[in-house]
Amino acid sequence: MYTMDELRKFCFKCRKCRLSETRTNVVFGEGNEDADIMFVGEGPGYYEDVQGRPFVGKAGQLLDKMIEAINYKRSDVYIANVVKCRPPENRNPMEDECNECLDYLRWQVKLINPKIIVCLGAVAAKNLIDTNLTISKQRGIFVKKGNIYFMPTFHPSYLLRNEAAKKDAWKDLLEVKSKLSSITQ
Ligand code: URA
Repeated sequence: MYTMDELRKFCFKCRKCRLSETRTNVVFGEGNEDADIMFVGEGPGYYEDVQGRPFVGKAGQLLDKMIEAINYKRSDVYIANVVKCRPPENRNPMEDECNECLDYLRWQVKLINPKIIVCLGAVAAKNLIDTNLTISKQRGIFVKKGNIYFMPTFHPSYLLRNEAAKKDAWKDLLEVKSKLSSITQ
């Protein structure tokens, strides 16, 4: 079993896929390593790549509000992505890039051992829950795998473009909150 620091070191040196050739920084993930809730996005964007931190741009500001909506602070939860290096021009990560990088995320999940993982958008939901999942149809419905409940919901970037979907995302977050209180009581 690796420690989080060992894992971080592996990631920083990683050259397993083409995204390593164009990255400025590896965006490993950050937060409470003992968190009950993990949020997983797709991959770093411009600001994340520059700063080496997940969700620090516009979508990140909305994610902060989503976290606050369930009375948590950013530092209470753990935030990571499916791929740890920025895809050029913010394109979707390719299947082979996701597959190479997922081992790191799986280790992070093992070390953190969260109760709930919120999958932000289709890339996270397909890679963590089911490759055939459709976010518009299956968001808001928990999927339990092992000891962990996975909640697929909209990506904050999508919510920035589709204000009307926010009420659904907020509903999903309330489900997360109530699930957590029912499993931790
Ligand atoms: N979008 C993501 O999916 N992840 C980030 O870290 C930032 C934007």
